[in-house]
Amino acid sequence: AHFAQASFLISAPTLRECPDDEGLEIAFVGRSNAGKSSALNCLTSPRLARTSKTPGRTQLINFFTLDEQRRLVDLPGYGYAKVPEAMRREWGKHLGAYISERKCLIGMVMLMDARHPLTDFDCQLLEVAASRDLPVHVLLTKADKLKRGPAKNQLLAVRQELKEMQGDFSVQLFSSLKGEGCGEAWKKLDTWLAW
Ligand code: GDP
Repeated sequence: AHFAQASFLISAPTLRECPDDEGLEIAFVGRSNAGKSSALNCLTSPRLARTSKTPGRTQLINFFTLDEQRRLVDLPGYGYAKVPEAMRREWGKHLGAYISERKCLIGMVMLMDARHPLTDFDCQLLEVAASRDLPVHVLLTKADKLKRGPAKNQLLAVRQELKEMQGDFSVQLFSSLKGEGCGEAWKKLDTWLAW
């Protein structure tokens, strides 16, 4: 119900132009085309995020308010092949800085295509989160593209790898197309937001 009250706050072109570092923030991150906008739209109403027709094009950081204290942040996707290497590296640095320095950040939702989880950069960001004890909840997206057995196996494999990385990490299957996994995700976000 709380996620039905979400509304657009501001788009920031750089992390320097973020709202003040106070209250509680949950950030959504993921490789571009992982299904982040679709998941955000699935989890909130009214639908907040614009799904990108060209992956990697949404380079603005979008802030949404849940209430006066609580915000969701949609961070630009990373790893889009057509973005020049130097720009990708630059954005990677900003993202790392945001995750390690933003005091109001209380948790992160990381989107990974269930068929291609745990890319190098996903793992780098997980390490940054672990270094400041920031909890990360992983959504294995587009789960509808896998049959039930392989999806379950993928979930268990990722869960095991996350366990070995020794952070406060959790993982679940998710499908925006089928609307599956919202309840589990809401439950996790609710524990962080301490309404
Ligand atoms: P973003 O770049 O991470 O924001 O990804 P989008 O949400 O824009 O989705 C990228 C592409 O994946 C789009 O073509 C979506 O239609 C597709 N997609 C997203 N979520 C799902 C899903 O749950 N199931 C399936 N089959 N396709 C999805």
